[in-house]
Amino acid sequence: MIDGKRRKEEKRIKDEDLFKVVDSTIDSRTYLSLIQLARKLQIKEYYGAISSGKEAKIYPALTKDGTWYAVKIYYVTTAASKRALEKYTIGDPRFKDVKIKTTFQLIETWARKEYKNLVRLYEAGVSSPRPIFVYRNILVMDFIGQDGIRAPLLKELSEEEINEDLYRKVIGELEKMVNIAHLVHGDLSEYNIMVWDEKPYIIDVSQSVDLQHPNALELLKRDIENINRFFEDHNISVELVEDILSRLKIS
Ligand code: ATP
Ligand code: MN
Repeated sequence: MIDGKRRKEEKRIKDEDLFKVVDSTIDSRTYLSLIQLARKLQIKEYYGAISSGKEAKIYPALTKDGTWYAVKIYYVTTAASKRALEKYTIGDPRFKDVKIKTTFQLIETWARKEYKNLVRLYEAGVSSPRPIFVYRNILVMDFIGQDGIRAPLLKELSEEEINEDLYRKVIGELEKMVNIAHLVHGDLSEYNIMVWDEKPYIIDVSQSVDLQHPNALELLKRDIENINRFFEDHNISVELVEDILSRLKIS
């Protein structure tokens, strides 16, 4: 083999080695982005998806120095999600210049929006995954869990683990989210809170909105009701929604 050709071949094999599990659902464009991202962040391996939600998948990634990241890939978009994005971005001053064009740009907007929201949460000291990087339709954040095994969702905890102390911690994070980060989650529930070492982590904030958003209060009430309903169902005595709202700086 001539030298250049061999180098190319070696590089191809190396790139394939990045993926511990072959995932045929990754499109070629995203595949190339993942390779570029691996170089940038010193990622040694991507592992199989730990979740496949409606619009995104999460993959654990391991760096050369042994750090685990969670890599969230936004990969499809539906008419419903396009409407949702418009609903959430219209009225949010940060996105007033965003003009939605192609489907791919739309997906990238979701990734960037989640990244920006994570930055706000992180800076406000809210317990959520630390944002690392966003590139095209890919968001990289700290991995919640250990050795590539994700932490359980609030939904997945055993009965003894669902206690009043945890309820207070969740409400505490919600308070910081509103009063310091000035964000309303918008889809808060037992499915979007992970629990690690008895500490709740708020995840999935792509649809979170600024307090200025016209629907902010309505979304906030629904978030609080979801949390209260979950803990009530597990026989925890919860605070009244109005009492929680009275501590939140939102009108
Ligand atoms: P779904 O529709 O399943 O909720 P989603 O598109 O809303 O998916 P997320 O909720 O952000 O995406 O993440 C999906 C799942 O991936 C979570 O339920 C959780 O199990 C896991 N996950 C998310 N973020 C992390 C993280 N930082 N570390 C470890 N696991 C994570
Ligand atoms: Mn989710």
